[in-house]
Amino acid sequence: MTTDTFFPASAAETAPRRLLGARLPAWLLPAQWPAASSGQPAWADLTLDRDRIAAIAPHAVSSTGAAPQAGDERLDGALVLPCFVDAHTHLDKAYTVSRLGQAEPGLLGAIEAMVADRAHWTAADVRTRATRGLARAWAHGTRHLRTHVDWTEADGIPLAWPVLRELAQEWRGRLVLEQVSLMKLPMFEDPARADWLARQVAATGEGAVLGAFVHSTNWNENALRHLLQAAQRHDLDVDLHVDEELQPRAQGLAATARIMRELGFEGRVVCGHTCALAVQDHDSALRLLDEIGQLPLTLIALPTTNLLLQDATTGRTPRTRGITLIKEARARGIPVLLASDNVQDPFCRIGNFDPAELMGTATLAAQLERPFDDWSDSLCRSDWLARPGAASAPAARPTLIGRPADLVVFDEADAWSWPAHATPRRVLRAGRWRQASAT
Ligand SMILES: [Zn+2]
Repeated sequence: MTTDTFFPASAAETAPRRLLGARLPAWLLPAQWPAASSGQPAWADLTLDRDRIAAIAPHAVSSTGAAPQAGDERLDGALVLPCFVDAHTHLDKAYTVSRLGQAEPGLLGAIEAMVADRAHWTAADVRTRATRGLARAWAHGTRHLRTHVDWTEADGIPLAWPVLRELAQEWRGRLVLEQVSLMKLPMFEDPARADWLARQVAATGEGAVLGAFVHSTNWNENALRHLLQAAQRHDLDVDLHVDEELQPRAQGLAATARIMRELGFEGRVVCGHTCALAVQDHDSALRLLDEIGQLPLTLIALPTTNLLLQDATTGRTPRTRGITLIKEARARGIPVLLASDNVQDPFCRIGNFDPAELMGTATLAAQLERPFDDWSDSLCRSDWLARPGAASAPAARPTLIGRPADLVVFDEADAWSWPAHATPRRVLRAGRWRQASAT
């Protein structure tokens, strides 16, 4: 697929001046926003100033009857979201499913299959598969994507790492691509080695994040401390796979919070999965969430892979879902994102980098009551990945005003049924309509 596919002929890219009658989610509206007679938030009229959103006002009834002005576009209640953030993916592994044999069920079986597949990896192979993933993400309306990159070398840099870096440069202006080093936790046991690894990640530049796989089978509290100390020293944010298991004794999340507090960690720490929290003693889990609510820590739930990999045994129906305590976390003000995780690889044979499709899974897996109004922020809040104090740091109440005119419009969906009818959808980028989602 060539770049031209993403940028259709400019003649097709109209730039609306106003979008009239957009149905925005409740989380994106001011507290005093009026309600419609249905009790739903009233529609909004968005005024654009080239590539930015200049103003938002309740939909003017008169504008439905008045002759439209040049550049006005009527949405008539179509659902509108900011372009998506897909905060946890694995572009280096994506689309390998076609060449895998039979793998054992569960997380550890998938890891074995992945190790075997790595024999096929070349820079060209990684680039081809990752580009396919970026193209899908872009078509679906994503503007910020974070990928983990397997990093098994204790004294070198994996071949996929610079490939993702090159892709981040190539996609700049279309999509923010961040990359996280996915290292085994014991690689950080030696403080000098931990420092060396952090230095390599920091040398990559903006958008590089230090990460590790933290699991009860490789638990090492000293290594986790060294990782966080090295990240602090090199001014890096951290993104961990933590407690991706249903083992009540898993302690990665609790230890991460404790060490962050001890160190006065100033960057952002993102903890993906944290499935074990769902099977731990309820009161202690809530106390831990109370503590996390005081820290710059974001949780990411990955419903698709959790449903597929947790409680997985051949010939036995799974009993446990593996979704972490996202409702309890959110009730404590903890940023919670939902993300794709693995796409068409040994860990997950389905998926297509589509956050709306993911929300369908999350709605069922976590029994979300109002996905559009209450939970779609978990697909959109890229500021929840930013470090405290940064220009892009999390806002108490997000707004579209002054933000880039990057919007996803679901023309046939309504807030009761979304994410059903997530197609057709249109994507506005920098104030211009771009390619619609094909799948
Ligand atoms: Zn992952």
